[in-house]
Amino acid sequence: MIKQLLSKNRVYFDNNATTKVTPKVRSVMNQVLKSYWGNPSSGYAKGKMSAQIIEKAREQVATAIGAHSHEVYFSSCATESNNALLKTVSNIFYPEKNKIISTPIEHPSVMSTLEYISKLGIEVQYCPVDKSGRVLLKDLEDMIDDKTFLVCCMLANNEIGTIQDVKKITKLAKVKNALVFSDCVQALGKIPINVKELGVDYATFSAHKLYGPKGVGAWYSRISSPLESYIHGGHQEEGMRAGTESIHNIAGFGEACKQVKKLISNTSKNTFLKKHFIDELKVIKSDIIINSPMDNCLTNTINLTFPGITSGELMRALDYQGIAVSAGSACSSSSNKPSHVLKAIGLTDKEAQESIRISFGNDTKYKHIKYTLKVLKQYLEEKKREETGTVIKLKSQELRL
Ligand code: PLP
Repeated sequence: MIKQLLSKNRVYFDNNATTKVTPKVRSVMNQVLKSYWGNPSSGYAKGKMSAQIIEKAREQVATAIGAHSHEVYFSSCATESNNALLKTVSNIFYPEKNKIISTPIEHPSVMSTLEYISKLGIEVQYCPVDKSGRVLLKDLEDMIDDKTFLVCCMLANNEIGTIQDVKKITKLAKVKNALVFSDCVQALGKIPINVKELGVDYATFSAHKLYGPKGVGAWYSRISSPLESYIHGGHQEEGMRAGTESIHNIAGFGEACKQVKKLISNTSKNTFLKKHFIDELKVIKSDIIINSPMDNCLTNTINLTFPGITSGELMRALDYQGIAVSAGSACSSSSNKPSHVLKAIGLTDKEAQESIRISFGNDTKYKHIKYTLKVLKQYLEEKKREETGTVIKLKSQELRL
């Protein structure tokens, strides 16, 4: 157990990294662990009961994304789903077709997989984005050619929150017979998703971004879209992903998906909190740079540059007062490299290293915003005093929520 030396206050502003499992999800998972431990592949009643739990969850995930249940496959996480789809679809088309077009702001699980498959001979091109992180559609249209078998573009960005016009991207791709794959991990539970309306061939999801458990993801593969086995072994997941299923995690994912509509109805609250937070921040620090676009952006996500303050320094100062924020994607937070997303939208290395991401959750309240603003104000004032060389002994006052 890590000894809790820090502030008693707790503000969790890193919901794009992961979310807290809800009591209802937890209770469903506990029930499954207790009563449905049979192997879903076994032919007797105990196994069949477990298989039924999985199929119920598959229906729940399918309903949340507007798919048919036989188009949903479970995996261990979205990183696995992204790997599975990019590698197997490439395998199906290469060498007859050899080109994938993606964007420079994809999650590391997509970027690294693309880098890997490019070494196998696939040509990967990155369509530029504008200052908001939006794909330049004219450029994309020009880039897709007869050799392109896949366009890969996330629906909502994890670092800055930009929502892409995937529907339009799909239309451009279809004209040239290219398939479309969209990482929808950050979008599920934050904006309405209907994979049929988006027109995508493949999409990926992760339970732990919407108050479900870690260790379970899913992918959508349209019934007519090519797919081949990724993990070889048993016949689980229609033979596409062998391995005995994590029944309790899958059930937890299904339960979390039942809340999707309710979660989305929260976005108007977050819109208000986000606007208030940004307005007040501009008063506290007039040179602050807001990297998240104001329109077509996740209402829970704000990416900010604090000129002159490194993200590590700011994160530590906030953590000391009980506020959890992050610098970019949790998957690359230990790399210390400037964020590829922020660089793609035009920030310098220095600016990118002075940026933090704040991501509100379902339970974020006005008092959390108010407290964070108070902490930031005090921190910036102290820093200014230090910089101007004035030695002032601050009374160690405990800030309260
Ligand atoms: N894609 C996006 C956009 C993400 O934000 C994340 C997680 O941060 C992932 C993929 C990977 O998800 P998982 O943690 O389930 O592997």
